[in-house]
Amino acid sequence: MDLCDLSPAYVRSIAPYQPGKPISELAREMGLDEAKIVKLASNENPRGTGPRTRAAIESTLRDLARYPDGSGFELRQALSRRYGVEQSSIVLGNGSNDVLELVSLAFLAPGRSAVYSQHCFAVYPLATQARGARGIAVPAKDYGHDLDAMAAAIAADTQVVWIANPNNPTGTIVSPERLEAFVRRVPERVLVVIDEAYNEYLHADLRADTVRWLRRHPNLIVTRTFSKAYGLAGLRVGYALAHATVADLMNRVRQPFNVNSIALAAAAAALDDMEFVARSYAENLQGLRQIEQGAKQLGLEWIPSYGNFITVRVGRAADIYKRLLKRGVIVRPVGGGYQLPEHLRVTVGTEAENERFLAALAASLKE
Ligand SMILES: *Cc1c(COP(=O)(O)O)cnc(C)c1O
Repeated sequence: MDLCDLSPAYVRSIAPYQPGKPISELAREMGLDEAKIVKLASNENPRGTGPRTRAAIESTLRDLARYPDGSGFELRQALSRRYGVEQSSIVLGNGSNDVLELVSLAFLAPGRSAVYSQHCFAVYPLATQARGARGIAVPAKDYGHDLDAMAAAIAADTQVVWIANPNNPTGTIVSPERLEAFVRRVPERVLVVIDEAYNEYLHADLRADTVRWLRRHPNLIVTRTFSKAYGLAGLRVGYALAHATVADLMNRVRQPFNVNSIALAAAAAALDDMEFVARSYAENLQGLRQIEQGAKQLGLEWIPSYGNFITVRVGRAADIYKRLLKRGVIVRPVGGGYQLPEHLRVTVGTEAENERFLAALAASLKE
């Protein structure tokens, strides 16, 4: 008997998520010194973690024998105050990835479908397929979301529309006006998930007021994370804002202690570290310009980005990726499921890291 046959076909056919290569793995494989490796592959914050947040983390260490607060009261209270939403509208997750899974657990099933864009975040097709739901991929427009086509693709069995704004891996954005028009147009029986993992990297004028839209649109779910601008990717904490009924359903299907106690305390502290986030924003903009300049000098095109990463067209990306690895620089290939075989996605690092990347890229293109 093949034990695989015991699993539903839609589970057996899942292609696992390909994360950015860890520094330790490359060091092992190539015999390189970890300290000399530059990882620009997972959109992590090159500034690390803020000082206040570090202090909050240290103060939790004496209580690790105890379970966390399963309701995450303090973090939800902090989020509630910051964004002016009821605590009953907040769902915490082990990273926002967890929250996306909770949406699929609560609302997707065989016989239902979910709509997403070509070049979308890999978790959307994964979370859809893992529930036995059908994924409807809509061709991109200028690498970004074609909202008209996505609205038209909504089928009778569609339950969820997934949208990342800005989008990963393309860095493209939909304007607040166009996004709001889309939300108005989607039937109320269909949930619209707006994944704002990169929200903190947007200029205020480009930020959609999605939290306010929640009052008018009970079918809207907004997700955010502490992994990017807040510099807490390793701790895994994110959240969703939704109508209380939707939030309640998501809370029913989560693990009772899905966010650990260190993450809860760190996220609450990070939320107050406004200066850290402001600096991350400013340095990211400078880094984006630095990489654009470098790409221009190398005669390369890129997709204009609104995130903390930029996707550059390098031609034979799989080869260039390997040549960069040999030089101790890890970026992200976006062929395969992302369908961008000529591009590489590069996270904006520190000025020195960006410089290292550009030098390694120049050498790799000549090789
Ligand atoms: C990075 C990212 C996330 C966040 O993942 P976490 O699980 O919160 O670390 C979510 N959505 C998109 C589009 C991302 O790029």
